[in-house]
Amino acid sequence: MNGNFAADLQAVFATHGSRPALRMADGGLWTYSDLAEQTARLTRVLVEAGVAPGDRVLAQVGKMPEAVALYLATLQAGGVYVPLNSAYTAAEVAHFLADAEPRLFVRDPASLDSADEHGGRGVLTLGSDGGSLVQAMDAAEPCHDVAERDGDDLAALVYTSGTTGRSKGAMLTHDNIRSNAEALRRYWGWRDDDVLLHALPLFHVHGLFIALHCALLGGTPTIFLPRFDVRTVKQHLPESTVMMGVPTFYTRLLQDADFNRGHCRGVRVFISGSAPLTEATFDAWQVRTGHRILERYGMSETIINTSNPLHGERVAGSVGFALPGVEVRVTGEGGEPLPAGEVGGIEVRGENVFKGYWRQPEKTAEEFRPDGYFITGDLGVMDAEGRLSIVGRARDLVISGGYNVYPKEVESLIDELDAVAESAVIGVSHPDFGEGVVAVVVPSDGPVSTDQVTAFLKGRLARFKQPKQVVNVEALPRNSMGKVQKNRLREEYEGLFSSAS
Ligand code: AMP
Repeated sequence: MNGNFAADLQAVFATHGSRPALRMADGGLWTYSDLAEQTARLTRVLVEAGVAPGDRVLAQVGKMPEAVALYLATLQAGGVYVPLNSAYTAAEVAHFLADAEPRLFVRDPASLDSADEHGGRGVLTLGSDGGSLVQAMDAAEPCHDVAERDGDDLAALVYTSGTTGRSKGAMLTHDNIRSNAEALRRYWGWRDDDVLLHALPLFHVHGLFIALHCALLGGTPTIFLPRFDVRTVKQHLPESTVMMGVPTFYTRLLQDADFNRGHCRGVRVFISGSAPLTEATFDAWQVRTGHRILERYGMSETIINTSNPLHGERVAGSVGFALPGVEVRVTGEGGEPLPAGEVGGIEVRGENVFKGYWRQPEKTAEEFRPDGYFITGDLGVMDAEGRLSIVGRARDLVISGGYNVYPKEVESLIDELDAVAESAVIGVSHPDFGEGVVAVVVPSDGPVSTDQVTAFLKGRLARFKQPKQVVNVEALPRNSMGKVQKNRLREEYEGLFSSAS
């Protein structure tokens, strides 16, 4: 049997031909036959461009239906899809070109002037006004053959967002992608009449795999929006049954005074991930819409690890249970499993776990335990029932005076203050304590003082965990997936205590 995930999708597309696959905001529509046909034409284009099984196709393109076909055609041709954030600069792209050594590079024609060197690789363009890829696709004879692949062969190389050091390519196999997509489809009870609202980017596992695969495997329609925008989302939400988003989608909708239950009347589940959803947002969403957001936890290296249940209690602040086929444990520094209730490193094993970092065997070896568990770099705690809660990234842990401070615990309390819209807790060098706790807050009204915060935390939180300084900012720096960039905050406030001493 062909282990190529494209073969599974091709079989679904064949039985759902006339159904809508991608419905665009401008009224455009691709049915499943259109998607299969365009994928087949593009497969021919790729094969003629020399893409052979195992070859990488690097794509830095906008969100459009042809980009979905490009991903599917790469798999169908046996290639390895390498999606890149459209915000990467030419210098960053040069690193990915050198590292991934793609056979073909597909890029937006609008950024052509910044592209000087492709090292002799094939280049095609795909932009909102077309491009050479679209021309080639229109002229090509469809190729419906699906290249033979083993389930363990690479399907995608996903570069991690890389907040420290150079970004690494996570090698995902056809089996990783297939097993996770199938597990999610079952776990989230995907229905034949589901309509997915898709406003996520396509260069990240959330938009490309998690969201899209549920719909594509189900042969159900996707409302395919170019980006998240409150007005457009409000317009299309009433026709949707499932929305998947990053927490910022939820906070931005809540900021819109007109957003109400009527917009959500057909929705059966709202799903959130890629960054922590605060309890305040979870609660406010429930009050406004009547829905309890289903939070789940994943990463580029493992797609989805855990999820709150579809039926049963969805707990604010928890990312739920290990998905079927995935094992999750919390360990101490030496890798020894910790009992329920203790904070430690989150480790994951299962069909979803990637094969390693591209051309980095040492880095790969460092991140895996001998028994096959992947060390995620996240810190968490599991309760006696197996519900996991994340307390932060290991590298965001603050050690002040020798004591561990888990930022999320402090942030959750500070966020309870009416005067604070949101907060990020970081550690920066401190002459006495090694690291001093700093709370960076976005005030909801006037400035928030350090005294105000410490007075509120008194009796609620041990002294060593309380911020030694509160800094007010207009907004927290976030990446395109809504993650707060704590490394940037640490850099910015590095001298906060040393300059005072
Ligand atoms: P990425 O590889 O860019 O998807 O980033 C993965 C990281 O995002 C994880 O290792 C977590 O630190 C974080 N993350 C993903 N989902 C959640 C969640 N539901 N709650 C908290 N952090 C999350």
